[in-house]
Amino acid sequence: MAVIRVRNTLGRRLERFQPLNPPNVNMYVCGPTPQDYAHIGHARTFVSFDAIKRYLGIRGYNVFHIQNITDIDDKIIAKARDENKTWKDVSSYYGTDYLNQLERIGVKIDIHPKVTDHIQEIIEFIQVLIDKGYAYTTESGNVYFQVDKYPDYGRLSGRISRDQWRQEEEFLAEKKSPYDFALWKAAKPGEPWWDSPWGRGRPGWHIECSVMSTRYAGGQLDIHGGAMDLIFPHHENERAQSEAYLGKTPWVRYWMHTGYLTIHGEKMSKSLGNIIVLKDAINQWGPGPLRLWLLSAHYRTQLEYSTQSMEQAKRLYERLRDIALDVSTRLEKSEPTHYLDKRDLDLLEKLRNTHLRWHESMSNDFNFGEAIREVWEFTKLYYKGVKYSESQTLLLYSFKIIDSFNRVYAFADDILLEKTDKALGELAEPLIDLILEVRTELRKKRMYDLADSIRSRLAQLGVKVLDYKDKSEWRIEK
Ligand SMILES: [Zn+2]
Repeated sequence: MAVIRVRNTLGRRLERFQPLNPPNVNMYVCGPTPQDYAHIGHARTFVSFDAIKRYLGIRGYNVFHIQNITDIDDKIIAKARDENKTWKDVSSYYGTDYLNQLERIGVKIDIHPKVTDHIQEIIEFIQVLIDKGYAYTTESGNVYFQVDKYPDYGRLSGRISRDQWRQEEEFLAEKKSPYDFALWKAAKPGEPWWDSPWGRGRPGWHIECSVMSTRYAGGQLDIHGGAMDLIFPHHENERAQSEAYLGKTPWVRYWMHTGYLTIHGEKMSKSLGNIIVLKDAINQWGPGPLRLWLLSAHYRTQLEYSTQSMEQAKRLYERLRDIALDVSTRLEKSEPTHYLDKRDLDLLEKLRNTHLRWHESMSNDFNFGEAIREVWEFTKLYYKGVKYSESQTLLLYSFKIIDSFNRVYAFADDILLEKTDKALGELAEPLIDLILEVRTELRKKRMYDLADSIRSRLAQLGVKVLDYKDKSEWRIEK
């Protein structure tokens, strides 16, 4: 199987993927600031990292996916003011929409830490930066990171000259240099605040990601992802804070960034007014076709939205579902193959090569664009040959391929995964019977402690045990 290589934004090189503690992989992706409906540009980033995680899963890695929710921020406060709501109303309303749409589109994340649940940890982290001499406080109650103290600043974004580091211009007067950035912001009148050793205020945007990622990954990260417009200043600042805090480098082994989603060649953005809301796109095209389309170009390149490309994704989706159904139904009825003719052998070879090229594309920095071409190729081979073949070998091999595609693109979980669930469901009943038989024997031998413990463990699983004189029965309690 092809070696997995990742293009690291830091250094701009293709590097062999070697996590710190294989097979475990820690991946942190910068999530949304919920102050409006999620759009398909956001979805591109989230679906891309979900697919990267799923592919690493096929290759035997166990990815822990952390994706934060910035539930307090200038933009949320401004939106709340405009709409005469509280910041909590705004972030929880749009935060719920985001989680709902992610679920519809098949993105599965292990933990969604929210900033406001981690204020204490953020304060402690900032205090360490102050104690180590990387940060300073001002009279107004702000705390800044002193960029000059971190010698590697600018390397992630490739900004070598200092004039490219200017940020947060509104506080120039009190900062030691124009490129220092806020770790803690003193509360302005009418703004939400939390108590801190520096007075009432709230965390700056960059610090939350350093704190929550470090906390949930237990220190260093294997992958840090996000959209490419986060490279500067957000990720540059995160890197400076975290390496200063941890006192080690690299904090992140692989920095990965997704490209823009464009419409008529222009980046989709609020300011241009060319946003397509995720919920609307899912309603129009269906989650499956939309997901396939989002994975139809390399994650780093631009992806251009058009009705034509969406219709193509829809066709591919329909083909894949049709094949998933066809192959799994026919496989159940098929008889073992004892002989492959020349045509079968030829087709088997082609199927194997397509699958191999798909793996090679995915392993080569997750080249979704090349990979999807192999998915098309597979559907053509299926319709041309496998569809009319009685060979169990060809059906088995096709099943194997479509199952691995589904593990990344998630177009037929209901068809392909249901089988495994059903098999497990059928196993549950005889297993409970078996446990109860053993328990009855224990009771006969007066080993009541153990018998009681089995009963309470089963109760925790929702299985209620009813004891009679020499037998026990059970039922599922919902
Ligand atoms: Zn972030």
